[in-house]
Amino acid sequence: MPWSLTVGKIAGTAIRIHVTFLLFLIWIWAAYYREGGADAAWQGVIFVASLFFCVLLHELGHVFAAKRYGVNTPDITLWPFGGIANLERIPEKPSEELVVAIAGPLVSIAIALSLLLLLGATVDPAALMKIEDPKVELVAKLAGANIFLVLFNMIPAFPMDGGRVLRALLAIKLGFARATELAASIGQGLAIALGLIGIFTNPMLVIIAVFVFLAASGEAVHAQLHHVARGALVADAMITKFDSLGPQSSVRDAVEELIRTTQKEFPVVDGGGRLRGVLTRDAMIRALQQRGPDTPVIEVMDSDVPTLPARANLEAALKALTEQGKPAIGVTDADGRLVGLLTTENLGEMMMVRSARARSGFGPWGRAAT
Ligand SMILES: [Zn+2]
Repeated sequence: MPWSLTVGKIAGTAIRIHVTFLLFLIWIWAAYYREGGADAAWQGVIFVASLFFCVLLHELGHVFAAKRYGVNTPDITLWPFGGIANLERIPEKPSEELVVAIAGPLVSIAIALSLLLLLGATVDPAALMKIEDPKVELVAKLAGANIFLVLFNMIPAFPMDGGRVLRALLAIKLGFARATELAASIGQGLAIALGLIGIFTNPMLVIIAVFVFLAASGEAVHAQLHHVARGALVADAMITKFDSLGPQSSVRDAVEELIRTTQKEFPVVDGGGRLRGVLTRDAMIRALQQRGPDTPVIEVMDSDVPTLPARANLEAALKALTEQGKPAIGVTDADGRLVGLLTTENLGEMMMVRSARARSGFGPWGRAAT
């Protein structure tokens, strides 16, 4: 994610801070400085650092809960009032997703309770609204911030924890795909309501609403893609009509192919029919600008392209495409020769076809399949 800095790594998970966290730090520092000078300003920095630590613990709650189900988390990004734990996949069972989603808020509740009980902080709802005021006691402010973290995260909309809890609960009865669709619609409905309220009260709410709306749509598309992939084979989705380049081809040959066809990714195949790499349109244009048309494609292609047998599960292919960020996947026959290609674009097309068929009730993937 752009606009965030990686600050460390815990149990294999990169910890990132979003730039808004630093803006928040500057804002608090300035507000405290104006009220109480340098001493107060540093108090403010301590508050933000403690808040950072609380958000981190919340996210680690998700990370360790997911680990229990064998799901790793490559990175987490921390925002001032919450974080996003980027799980490599969603746990299979709804009950597992429920546990993972609830683990973060439970950590925040535990922090708030211990601050209240052990340190004797008082909860003053008004203190929540005055985080920029240095006169409000640090412990009370932190307790308040953690309660806010729980309430905000339990809004039943993606990407908030509440959205995941809602989906997991719906999925127990409706299945994963339908539950995601419904949870995303509820989230978008809430975002619109939030935005309308924001227009009349607080412009910050409008920004949050737009963010929630977009995130809810993204989640729905992602879930649909996985649903389509489940139970299908690579052979069902691959492109079988495509042009390929030879190991001796130059960038000039590649550009001719690019113009002549609608293809954007060109496999480079040797005499034995084996995939040596894939040349993308972007790499081609870059090579043309920087190294000229006579450059051999073999020097500018992506030579680390995964291959899968045609009988492999489509979900494995989707995983390789999305997680490794590869332009395409080579599909091979039993002898290891290239017989097809899979790209994110043609997977998207397959998704459209399948969902149209599912809605109409026609075809081999009729209503019963969804
Ligand atoms: Zn959370």
